[in-house]
Amino acid sequence: MIKRIPVFLYHGVRECLDDAIQDVGYSLPIASIESQIAWLRNGGYISLSLERLLSFPEEWERSFAITVDDCLMSAYTHLFPLLRKEGYTACFFPIVNAVGQKGWVGWREIAEMLQAGMEIGSHGLSHADLSEISPSELRRELGDSKKIIEDTLGARVRYLSLPGGYCNRLVTTSAAEEGYEAVCSSAFGYNKPGTDRYALKRFCLRGDDATPVMRHIMKRSPLRLSTLYAMEWGKGCARKIFGKKIYAAIRGIFLPSDVPRTLPRFP
Ligand SMILES: [Zn+2]
Repeated sequence: MIKRIPVFLYHGVRECLDDAIQDVGYSLPIASIESQIAWLRNGGYISLSLERLLSFPEEWERSFAITVDDCLMSAYTHLFPLLRKEGYTACFFPIVNAVGQKGWVGWREIAEMLQAGMEIGSHGLSHADLSEISPSELRRELGDSKKIIEDTLGARVRYLSLPGGYCNRLVTTSAAEEGYEAVCSSAFGYNKPGTDRYALKRFCLRGDDATPVMRHIMKRSPLRLSTLYAMEWGKGCARKIFGKKIYAAIRGIFLPSDVPRTLPRFP
């Protein structure tokens, strides 16, 4: 059987008023996250670091990986203690220019998470759309963010998470040249031994049905997931047909008015 391992993607925690952004579109209630982690633990599922995931271990059927993008304050105050309590690991991706600002995790907290066995990757300097910036800006976003994290923590940064999931060929080749060993995208699906390690897929957990969705993903239930795959495929087609800007505007019509459309850039 082909090895298929899910990587889950979390953002903020809805009740955490300390977060700089209350993004109800992507953040989940803490009770929902707790029930997902408890379900994984009760099922005896195994948490993998990204390093271990890339080796596609024999216990793949019982395995998953967790990533946390942006590093809003709740990543440290809510997600990190929950994962640590269960002996689970995750890869946290801070936005370098946001680190230490009000509502965002600081270097001291990031160092503590690293010490506790979490992996730390880069989510760029400013959360820019990497597919839209100049080659020199791209070099800075990828290279400088990696170097700043490495110099500050004294540890190697091996993974990149794409802000907004936006990518093109130049982004992936530049990531490889800057020394990243893998890139987390926002493409929906499992990772298999043949998956491009510079385009790792992730399941973004959001909405009220995140817990049942996680169960279907862990049980590799293709029929149960077919609706989600169809929706993601439809969204991908709409983005291609209308372009990113018009797609975002159309999406905005269907989102509550208090949902931020995008994260701000951090100059
Ligand atoms: Zn992000």
